[in-house]
Amino acid sequence: MPVTAVVGAQWGDEGKGKITDLLAQEADVVIRFQGGNNAGHTVVNRHGTFKLHLVPSGIFNPDALCVVGPGTVVNLQVLCEEIANLEAHGLSTANLRVADRAHLIMPWHTALDRLDERERGRQKLGTTGQGVGPAYADKVARHGIQAYEVRDERAFRARVAHELETKNKILDRLGEEPLDATRVADAVLAAAATLGDRITDTLPIVEHALRTDARVLLEGQLGAMRDLDWGIYPFVTSSNPLAGGAAVGAGIPPRFITRVVGVVKAYSTAVGEGPFPTEMRGREGDALREMANEYGATTGRPRRVGWFDSVAARHAHRLNAFTELAVTKLDVLGAYPTIPFAVAYEVEGRRTTDMPPTRLLERATPVYQTLAGWCAPLDGVADRAHLPAAAKAYLAKIEETVGARVGMVGIGPERGATLL
Ligand code: GDP
Repeated sequence: MPVTAVVGAQWGDEGKGKITDLLAQEADVVIRFQGGNNAGHTVVNRHGTFKLHLVPSGIFNPDALCVVGPGTVVNLQVLCEEIANLEAHGLSTANLRVADRAHLIMPWHTALDRLDERERGRQKLGTTGQGVGPAYADKVARHGIQAYEVRDERAFRARVAHELETKNKILDRLGEEPLDATRVADAVLAAAATLGDRITDTLPIVEHALRTDARVLLEGQLGAMRDLDWGIYPFVTSSNPLAGGAAVGAGIPPRFITRVVGVVKAYSTAVGEGPFPTEMRGREGDALREMANEYGATTGRPRRVGWFDSVAARHAHRLNAFTELAVTKLDVLGAYPTIPFAVAYEVEGRRTTDMPPTRLLERATPVYQTLAGWCAPLDGVADRAHLPAAAKAYLAKIEETVGARVGMVGIGPERGATLL
């Protein structure tokens, strides 16, 4: 696998952490290419259960170099806490590198994230409040601070003071206490000192990996439906979780990405606001949420749950050209005698398999086919050929409607519970 991208093909939380952890066993370099510590990639392996927020899920392979790419936004203090937690579990993070061009999430970004949600009121986005959106907004507005800037302490302190002149006016107008430039700079510089020369130019690492045919794994965060350009704007993340975003966010020329793994759950979940056509409401949804433990890895918020939406997954495939799908949590559906499966939408009296823009999607009704369930646990199934016939038919329906082949099937949270 020269360069493989692992990306979400739904609303996020598809199980990318598990798939990346699995593939990372055979990788030389693993790169997170977008997003921030709003991610919560769950990895269950022999070291324990981990919710990785920014550290790439390749950290469990001691031979892999893990890169927090230039397309990410980084809260240095939170990253230090995450590293300390991993090391407390006996894991080495010596192979972690942070791109010096990555933008920093500063304390004013977390404050503004919270305040922006408050001001939006009922139109809130349901962010994790980690400052990711405001940090990307400042990057685009050319007010961002890049990680390399911590190397020149005097200049960094001046930058912080300068940015705070404006940011404190905004905080003040919104009824918040102003931030103290010295204290903010002290805290960020202390975290940067802990990270030391892990903050580095990552392009030579990536270029060397490509030149030597090393195996590179690109780890996306969230999913296509939350993509800034192609998702359910404005209920999206502030970066591009598509494989195309991986090229820019990791610093990999696009033609090197030869394998794109689209991760989908066998049903759907979403955290945060925005349209979610196949959502199950009431008791039906509560039952699936409880059974599948669908609570946010970062916030603990209950996830919205729904049936499989092939229009959404097909939309993701059109944008990513998956070389294969990884279907996770197939085991969960073993509880259902029949399973509704969305094959199209009805929008304003018209049937479509194209993804409508957000305001139309809010009015879309899914068109379901009812598929047979298998009513059996999948524990202990060691080979895809041994899956119940109805489970195989379910996977075949996913392949047919999405248009991509299923290469991996998850039947449990552990690394090993994956049929290849
Ligand atoms: P990510 O952010 O895409 O990595 O996904 P999350 O970690 O937020 O959510 C996926 C959840 O599903 C985690 O709790 C995983 O441990 C769990 N999981 C992943 N694959 C499977 C699977 O095949 N079966 C079951 N039962 N759980 C899985």
